[in-house]
Amino acid sequence: MKKGKVFVVSGPSGVGKGTICAELMARYPSLAATTVSVTTRAPRPGERDGVHYYFRTEEEFDRLLKEGMFLETVDKFTHRYGTLFSEVEKVLDSGKNVILEIEMLGGANVKKRIPEAVLVFILPPSLETLTARIKGRGSETAEEIAFRQAQVEKEFDQAAPYEYFVVNDDLADAVEHLKAIIVAEGLKDTLQDVKQNYFGRD
Ligand code: 5GP
Repeated sequence: MKKGKVFVVSGPSGVGKGTICAELMARYPSLAATTVSVTTRAPRPGERDGVHYYFRTEEEFDRLLKEGMFLETVDKFTHRYGTLFSEVEKVLDSGKNVILEIEMLGGANVKKRIPEAVLVFILPPSLETLTARIKGRGSETAEEIAFRQAQVEKEFDQAAPYEYFVVNDDLADAVEHLKAIIVAEGLKDTLQDVKQNYFGRD
């Protein structure tokens, strides 16, 4: 059986990347699965340990880091987040592709450690739609919205290692586009490996 690949899915906050990944897995359950990250932030209402995140203390996070358990970590927010090697292996061992729904610094670090990882960036149809979505939530002040817009521009500047850009205009289309990327990447091979498989020689 051909082993699955690692896909990183990132994008500005509010772009709907979580919805796209959840829908992809619901439609194509054998294609890919996401992992559960470790975080030091407190659970939000409805979030469960081991399901949404592994909620851990700073000390526990430090211990995991020291033991070399993380593929990547980020601490650019007030709290820390990290992807466990064991989570990635669990999905790959099940024969599926792995989707890491992480922010872009994490994506760049994954690419450094796993060069064959594929980085996908989810885009809003326009900057205006993203702002409208954030405004729609009604929880941010005008100042915070302006700050978020500036953050989005900064995120684009970090997008260099990203190779695929999916616009989330229509959810069903975005899901199919992500599926197409995963399927096409799975068909990539070298002639040498193909010959080895068919003829048992180079
Ligand atoms: P939230 O606290 O809203 O769940 O997540 C905040 C941000 O952290 C999101 O952009 C999310 O994708 C990112 N994130 C979640 N888990 C990880 C992780 O393990 N590594 C990295 N680098 N980012 C993560």
